[in-house]
Amino acid sequence: EISACLVGSEMCIRDSISSAFDSGNIVVVKADDPTGIELEIRPDVGEDHFQWFHYRVSGSKGIALTMSITNARRASYPEGWKDYQACASYDRGHWFRVPTRYEGGELIIEHTPEHDACWYAYFAPYSLDHHQDLIAEAQMVDDVTLQRLGATVDGRDIDLLQVGDDGDDKRSCWIIARQHPGESMAEWFVEGLLDRLLDDEDPVSREVRERACLYIVPNVNPDGSFRGHLRNNAAGKNLNRQWEEPNVEQSPEVFHVRAAMERSGVDLFLDVHGDEALPYNFISGGEGIKSWDNAKAEREQRFSDALLVASPDFQTKFGYPVPEHGEANNTMASNWVGQRFGCLAVTLEMPFKDTADTPHPLGWSPERARKFGAAHLDAILVALRAPR
Ligand code: ZN
Repeated sequence: EISACLVGSEMCIRDSISSAFDSGNIVVVKADDPTGIELEIRPDVGEDHFQWFHYRVSGSKGIALTMSITNARRASYPEGWKDYQACASYDRGHWFRVPTRYEGGELIIEHTPEHDACWYAYFAPYSLDHHQDLIAEAQMVDDVTLQRLGATVDGRDIDLLQVGDDGDDKRSCWIIARQHPGESMAEWFVEGLLDRLLDDEDPVSREVRERACLYIVPNVNPDGSFRGHLRNNAAGKNLNRQWEEPNVEQSPEVFHVRAAMERSGVDLFLDVHGDEALPYNFISGGEGIKSWDNAKAEREQRFSDALLVASPDFQTKFGYPVPEHGEANNTMASNWVGQRFGCLAVTLEMPFKDTADTPHPLGWSPERARKFGAAHLDAILVALRAPR
């Protein structure tokens, strides 16, 4: 079998593809020929979802690689592969797109690495180490408190950053991200929002902090993130279907975040996600909840209008179908929060691909997600200035 491993520069492709690292996910099926590499994405615990991939190819500098993800047709959102380009990086800081096509139910990535090692991923990863850096840096800023809400299934910390004090006249503004761990753009978004929020020379941030206490959970699902999951936690639960009855053993992440919300109350809630298929930024609101009325509709409209001004990357034409009144799925965070606290509560979706109306050579990217997060403070301020 040794001869099958000899290709080009005497490298063994099979041994040179790895994913045993933070947020890694790939299974090597066949790799004795660099132009016929067959890979599979490993399903999340729970077996009902997969789409996130992240792997490294070593020793392939100058070798034309054709890598087929052969179980792509069975991924959670096969329509997500249409017009999708995979992300790649040599330094794990700058991620670029590489030629990718969806053909015969397989996702085929073709690339000739320019350096010895190249990393490939569904979207620019946001590692747990990076998450720890974010938390560590933020806690050093005056006015920021780090609270460990509890432990995940695997024993990781569930981190909450509280920005500002929770005085009686302050509104409680909650922002959570990465219930679905494969939607890494959500944590890039939070990083950009947090950077601007903690800039005390930014007048918008200063007024937001005067009017509100902000509760930010940058990563609700660290176990799923580390394990390279698309949607589930380590117990195989989709956290955004656990909000009505979170279980301290199966979905402790939601259990603890919800308990903290009950302590603080909620006046504004943003649940940050990525959508595999739609090439748009959009929000999904509370139209389906039982207590929906004109005042709530106006409040959501005001927020959405402000966001349109704050970021040309946002749009309102395309999104999810609007549910009938009373038909909301209350196991989802924004519906549960909107109903429980009667507040503005939305799910925000960003693309994995790109924004169709404002495309960029890098597609949707960490930096664009960061800027989009920062832009949300303009809309949050508009919401905070409006009467309760
Ligand atoms: Zn999601």
